[in-house]
Amino acid sequence: MSSLLIKNIDTLVSCDEEDHVYHNVDLVCKDGRIFSIDQSLSAAGESGAFDRVIDGSGMFCYPGLVNTHHHLYQVFSRNLPEVQNLELFDWLVALYEIWKGLNEDTVRLSSLTGMGELMKNGCTTVFDHHYVFPENAGDLIAAQWEAARTLGVRMHFSRGSMDRSRKDGGLPPDSVVQTVDEIMEDSVRLIETWQDDSFTSMHRIALAPCSPFSVSETLLRESAVLARQYGVRLHTHLCETLDEENYTLEKVGLRPLAYMEKLGWLGDDVWYAHGIHFNTEELQLLADTKTGVCHCPVSNMKLSSGIARIPEMLALGVPVGLGVDGSASNDGSNLLEEMRVCYLLHRLNSSEKAPSGYDILKMATMGSAALLGRQNEIGSLEHGKCADFFLIRKNRLELTGACRDPLSVLCTVGLKAPVDYTVVNGQVAVENGRLVNVDEERLVYEAEREVTRYLDGL
Ligand SMILES: [Zn+2]
Repeated sequence: MSSLLIKNIDTLVSCDEEDHVYHNVDLVCKDGRIFSIDQSLSAAGESGAFDRVIDGSGMFCYPGLVNTHHHLYQVFSRNLPEVQNLELFDWLVALYEIWKGLNEDTVRLSSLTGMGELMKNGCTTVFDHHYVFPENAGDLIAAQWEAARTLGVRMHFSRGSMDRSRKDGGLPPDSVVQTVDEIMEDSVRLIETWQDDSFTSMHRIALAPCSPFSVSETLLRESAVLARQYGVRLHTHLCETLDEENYTLEKVGLRPLAYMEKLGWLGDDVWYAHGIHFNTEELQLLADTKTGVCHCPVSNMKLSSGIARIPEMLALGVPVGLGVDGSASNDGSNLLEEMRVCYLLHRLNSSEKAPSGYDILKMATMGSAALLGRQNEIGSLEHGKCADFFLIRKNRLELTGACRDPLSVLCTVGLKAPVDYTVVNGQVAVENGRLVNVDEERLVYEAEREVTRYLDGL
């Protein structure tokens, strides 16, 4: 039994269905869940009955952000000058030559680095799309769990996959692709190891073939069958570039979404990363089937991929969440930054139809939670839900004069430094902007040493 009281919170933005905003309240967490949000405890002087008490005076409190697309292994191949100006297909071909050298240490340390940055910026649940499994690289999903467990973050893994290498018309080298049988066998092993369906589960897993142009029709179809057999979710990249659209039209005579529909990839247990090049009929099909989209604006801008039709998706009722995407196409792991870029991009592109700052906060919380199938458990601050949230002090120079609208300030002004506290499952994981469970300086040292080995072979 563990308990945490955050007392006298200045403003708590719940992101619940009624959009409740509370002032001067106490947030009580017990055993990883929210026990109460009310004003009675501090007034009654009951602070002594809790394992930990934090003074929330002068702080804003928000639900923990949920990241629904990442490739954490890419943290160690960001900001590389040789790929800075390439678009997706050429960029992938160049980077696979680096990625084929990753191992358990690369994945563990890059996951610690990327998830640590996410948590310092308010993220409490991380989904990672890992699809590069070089031969003899070890148990890469176990390495990710080692990182997540150490940091204290809620983790959704994926068993990604590729079975179409260059010799079959795909982009990756032979050494990072596997056969459909190998992939299915390992998928079963990983689902049976990591899928925890409990309410406060800290780890679940999805099946996530890389993209229509790097996997076979058989792999996509069999992944969908296996996922439904076990009740796990399905994820892949879709409609990221026009090159992809040309590829599916040429190879199978179908636009990307029609191809995926044929293979069983529509439904409320499926979400796609990017979704830039859907036409209007396809947006309606996504809405009708509750198939989700993870919006990754920074990556889409960096790779010159285009602008997803987010205002129309929201108007139609397509489930939309937010993600930072891999660090090779973002160069950072900061959902607060992603929210601000999202806000500004759609202001520029859509003006009066653009989502508000609060719409985007809800996209990064409840919207993202729904893509992971966890809308009942995380994404808003309500009695009984998981105690995942972050706190920021209002009295920062960069927020001075900007705090009258706590619903939109994270997007309009943005946060220029880490949050003050991040709490996951009722446990403080970031305090005063620093990770609680790891020594950040030591992590930087070990990570840089691994980057040297990985990139330079030293
Ligand atoms: Zn991606």
